[in-house]
Amino acid sequence: MTELTTRASSINRALDQIGDKWCLLILQEVFWGVNSFGGLLQETGISRGVLSNRLKWLQDHDCLRRRGSTRYPRYHLTRKSVDLYHNALMAVVWEDRHFDTPEIQAVRLVHRNCGKSFVPLMVCGCCQQAVDGREVSYLPGPGAQQDVRGKKVRRRSSVSAHEVPSERQVYRNLINLVGDRWTANLIALAFHDLHRFDEFHRELPVATNILSDRMRFLVEEGIFETRPYQQRPLRHAYHLTGKGWDLFPWFLTLLHWGDRWCDPTGAGPPMKLIHATCKQPLHGQVVCDQCDDEVRPDEVGFSIHNVAEYSATGS
Ligand SMILES: [Zn+2]
Ligand SMILES: [Zn+2]
Repeated sequence: MTELTTRASSINRALDQIGDKWCLLILQEVFWGVNSFGGLLQETGISRGVLSNRLKWLQDHDCLRRRGSTRYPRYHLTRKSVDLYHNALMAVVWEDRHFDTPEIQAVRLVHRNCGKSFVPLMVCGCCQQAVDGREVSYLPGPGAQQDVRGKKVRRRSSVSAHEVPSERQVYRNLINLVGDRWTANLIALAFHDLHRFDEFHRELPVATNILSDRMRFLVEEGIFETRPYQQRPLRHAYHLTGKGWDLFPWFLTLLHWGDRWCDPTGAGPPMKLIHATCKQPLHGQVVCDQCDDEVRPDEVGFSIHNVAEYSATGS
């Protein structure tokens, strides 16, 4: 495996641990209550060998714990992976906003504290205003350094939106998008106001054909749009679309998780985020849009609605 040096980032560190498409799919199912090997095999559609491999990887990284008999093991979330709960909620919100997914529309999240069905909302922990990635600036944090990372190249074909066989589709489009490490890294870089190909390449020095392939994919998926910045020769810059910016809360929860759980040197966060609205350090909080209380994993229930009825009443 060759190596790659990039600026230290909690997002990259987190993605290097759980950002593989199969790992994200497995965690999604375990969050949903599926925890036997057979159940995961059936729900994810992953091959037996890959499933064993990723389950081992997730256990090695303290994201799953095996319990039960050797013959019928069960995989449970750990404190570390339960802490990805807000990240999963932000995935559902993005998916619901940008895709027509009856499976998601049928599920209502219910906040037990206020008894209402709600939409999780990312707000600034300081000023309580909804967080918009365009109103965030970045400063080097105490852990700012360079990280050396493995450079295992995954085949581009594995990015295709049609290859994830999960029946449940809770946030399948998001997983297809961020389940490729370089694609996810490029989106994270775009939040930092990077626009030109060479700017992305400087921060993520992988082969240019890999990079241009991922850029094209992001344009096709409506996350980036291109705008000409030079006429002769014609060159295009990449800009996040509204759909792309809407991914910010998902990345922010991942960044907080990486700050907390993926700090190999113990130096502290590599980056400090400042919320332009209140000029304070940004710590994103996921709250209930009905009662404004912070949402905790044990306070959320589900109710399933009939999809036809849901559309007919428009409620
Ligand atoms: Zn604020
Ligand atoms: Zn509430």
